[in-house]
Amino acid sequence: MAVIGIDLGTTNSACGVLGEEGVTLIPNRLGDVLTPSVVGLDSAGKLVVGRTAKERLINHSDRTVAAFKRLMGTDHKVALGRQMFSATELSALVLRSLKEDAEAHLGETVTEAVISVPAYFNDNQRHATKLAGELAGLKVERLINEPTAAAIAYGLHDKREGNFLILDMGGGTFDVSILEFFDGIMEVHASAGDNFLGGEDFVEAMIDSVLKEQGMGRDQLSPRQLQNLTMQMETAKRRISQHPEQRLQLEVGKQKIEWAATAEWFEKLATPLLLRSKRPIERAMRDADLPPQKIDEVVLVGGSTRMSLFRSMVGRMFGRLPSCHLDPDTVVAMGAAIQAGLKSRSAALEDIVLTDVCPYTLGTGVINEDSPEQGEYFMPIIERNTVVPVSVVRRVWTAHENQTEVRVDVYQGENRLVKKNVYLGETSVPVPKGPKGEEAVDIRYSYDMNGLLEVDVTVVSSGKTHNKLIEFSPGALNEEEKASALQKLSKLKFHPREDEENRALIARGERLYESSLGERRETIARLLGNFDRVLERQNPAEIKKARARLQEVFDELDGEDWI
Ligand code: AMP
Repeated sequence: MAVIGIDLGTTNSACGVLGEEGVTLIPNRLGDVLTPSVVGLDSAGKLVVGRTAKERLINHSDRTVAAFKRLMGTDHKVALGRQMFSATELSALVLRSLKEDAEAHLGETVTEAVISVPAYFNDNQRHATKLAGELAGLKVERLINEPTAAAIAYGLHDKREGNFLILDMGGGTFDVSILEFFDGIMEVHASAGDNFLGGEDFVEAMIDSVLKEQGMGRDQLSPRQLQNLTMQMETAKRRISQHPEQRLQLEVGKQKIEWAATAEWFEKLATPLLLRSKRPIERAMRDADLPPQKIDEVVLVGGSTRMSLFRSMVGRMFGRLPSCHLDPDTVVAMGAAIQAGLKSRSAALEDIVLTDVCPYTLGTGVINEDSPEQGEYFMPIIERNTVVPVSVVRRVWTAHENQTEVRVDVYQGENRLVKKNVYLGETSVPVPKGPKGEEAVDIRYSYDMNGLLEVDVTVVSSGKTHNKLIEFSPGALNEEEKASALQKLSKLKFHPREDEENRALIARGERLYESSLGERRETIARLLGNFDRVLERQNPAEIKKARARLQEVFDELDGEDWI
């Protein structure tokens, strides 16, 4: 019986199997090898996973969830319709969908898998990942570290020994790992990263540049305009290497403008972000005490490493081009599949992590007065990936006139907004009354290997310290809880597989409808109505034809191919 390898990613997941001819990436029910890690419930209460759910993310945000990998190993629950789910349960639903796709593709039952996890995942998070597998009906005897999987996909384990640098830049984060391979053991040494640097930041910088040129702020755009502008910039970014002179029609506020998205323009705004990405690379090299010439291979993972500017920067740093001939979006799944194949032959690679790191960013909420939203912004204090034990202090000032108290809310997470992170607790300290910004407090977070966070808040003017201990190692499920989680998940039903393509198309149409206006909107509504009527007639040949036609129109409306 085949053991499959799964990359359970924050944005996308993928799975593969090792055969005689090497790795086959398994297509899902829609024919894609990438399944967005998004889960939703539709109006009929049925489960949608992957692309269909992703299309519904904007219009049905209360019934759709994404990026839950960031909550793995915590007790935090998120609402999906009227029910609450843990990250483990949501991951189980993605895994269940991948398992079914693998079974349909291989024509046999699949009961065992190797799943990849970030190297910085702690015991809790690893345990939660295995449990998610179990809830999906998969035995997960082994996990594999994501950088190790990438190294294996490139065949680096076939060498006798070596030092490898793995650079993984996705949509929102950048992770750097150094691996040392010897005697058949892959050791993950230094790891560093930037939790707030990824492909989305390049798009944000493009939007900022357009708006600055027009002398406008984001608050002058409608949500629909901002969404459209984001999508246009995303597409332009992906095409910029091949199409260095793109002419875009943009709608900003009341104006319609033509914008020249040139390679020069992009390079200028990407440079500060690229310089930022150099820092964690240099830090990891320093921590591992390795000069660039001792790195035998540099491997690129994650969609953003497709940017040619990023590749040339890495090339310049190491004096040679990085390994990037494999698809950076599926390279981890490929490695996991190889490890799964080796495992079924009892030849799996030993893969260990040598550093103990803090798996999440821990911080507090602060007010950002420049923001029109006046919301609570997350101020990281201990960054994810920091080697523990660690103690870090940050100073904040009073934000209001005559403030008598400073409240320190403690959050864990990777989002810029505190409301999207996990609240862990709070503590308050009295401060002497005075003008805004006069009094300061030092907030010290100390984190140790047992998952204990100590928060010390010192009032600078008086030297008085208040201390609070926060424990956040959530318990694993006992047998009874596991059984009830299993029951809850088994009650959720997927749509029949053959129905999925139609659902994905309708969800896409609804997303396009929402982001359009006027005539374009009416056309989409008419097309969707016609398609509904074809579906009602239940004639498979007619449905297939109508679906292909509709797909073509939507491709056109979506503008560009999202490659
Ligand atoms: P991931 O989380 O690995 O799926 O990464 C997705 C990120 O990769 C997104 O921010 C994309 O914009 C980015 N990406 C994908 N393809 C390209 C490309 N050809 N050029 C630049 N960025 C890309």
